[in-house]
Amino acid sequence: AKRAYTRTKPHLNIGTMGHVDHGKTTLTAAITKVLAERGGAKYVPFERIDRTPEEAVRGITINISHVEYETADRHYAHVDMPGHADYVKNMITGAAQLDGAILVVSGQDGIMPQTREHVLLARRVGVEHVVVALNKADGADPELLDLVELELAELLAEQGYHDVPMVRVSGLRALAGDPEWTASIESLLRAVDEHVPVPVRYTDAPFLLPVENVLTVTGRGTVVTGAIERGTVRVGDTVEAVGLGGGFTAVVTGVETFGKTMEHGEAGDNAAVLLRGVRREQVRRGQVLAAPGSLRAYSRFRARIYLLTTAEGGRSTPIATGYRPQFYLRTTDVPGRVELDTATSALPGDTIEAIVDLGKPVALETGLGFAVREGGLTVAAGTVLTPLV
Ligand code: GDP
Ligand code: MG
Repeated sequence: AKRAYTRTKPHLNIGTMGHVDHGKTTLTAAITKVLAERGGAKYVPFERIDRTPEEAVRGITINISHVEYETADRHYAHVDMPGHADYVKNMITGAAQLDGAILVVSGQDGIMPQTREHVLLARRVGVEHVVVALNKADGADPELLDLVELELAELLAEQGYHDVPMVRVSGLRALAGDPEWTASIESLLRAVDEHVPVPVRYTDAPFLLPVENVLTVTGRGTVVTGAIERGTVRVGDTVEAVGLGGGFTAVVTGVETFGKTMEHGEAGDNAAVLLRGVRREQVRRGQVLAAPGSLRAYSRFRARIYLLTTAEGGRSTPIATGYRPQFYLRTTDVPGRVELDTATSALPGDTIEAIVDLGKPVALETGLGFAVREGGLTVAAGTVLTPLV
């Protein structure tokens, strides 16, 4: 039988972000290794984080890796993403609902373009708390590290992140078992424990889980995984699949987290929900599981949209009615058409109101955030003002 998950500590979702090759995956592996020695984690080696076995076997793109660990005070689910595009997609769509982020910056290289972009992105998607891991501190010139810290403080303050703890670490040396750098990982975790508060969870709201992945478990049926956005779910509950033309209700026959059974899953948990009598093809990424009747799918809505400036990575030219980018909402992305409200065109840097027509119906509600991308670039971020029928 499977082990049960006992909720003895507050649970938080965190993740690494930062420029490619600055050591996010190495640091993630090092954290599990250091905590494994204290009974707070199962060691997950670099190769397991960077390329999950499922990916190799089933050939599907899993662009987000979760590891779990515990400090003395907390249980963490930690996400690490392989590439820059995965950050943009998973952070803006809310697939990675981060209560706090570890910004990994190589002390040997300093601030790089994706460092800047991830800080901006964190601010846009509402990540309230950041801790800096000044990585590759082994072999780095201490004066250079001082300088990088000053520049980072300035960059973070520009985005409203003040008094951010910065810890000099070496993921690589900690992985190698070096005591000095093992201690640096412990300092980093202490900073996360102290600096990132336990968030308020909406456990009393109707259940909602954006579908990230769907798997078939032989002999048990179809399992849907994702981070519970709000509410709670327990065995015996009826849930409804909403969006992308899907629409069925099913009874929950199991709830798990990281392979352990749960009495109930609640907002903030990364959960696997087993559904009775549902075929693999009936449910897919981009739909949501919700308390029946609590949410509807729409393909038209009024939105407020901020067009990123060229400096923020956005467009260099205006948009007009008829503009057709890709819309990223929760775990889905669908093409859509923009109809400007009043003006004939809008420039990068403008905030506009517009009507959006999506190519497919998606579970929507007032206040839902979304990203707009084209040609591999995030060009705008918006909020649903009113769903329209
Ligand atoms: P990511 O792209 O941010 O996930 O970076 P990786 O974890 O894949 O690391 C990129 C490269 O930097 C690899 O060759 C690592 O071995 C190296 N690296 C990572 N952490 C450290 C560190 O603390 N010190 C040194 N010297 N190298 C590191
Ligand atoms: Mg990586």
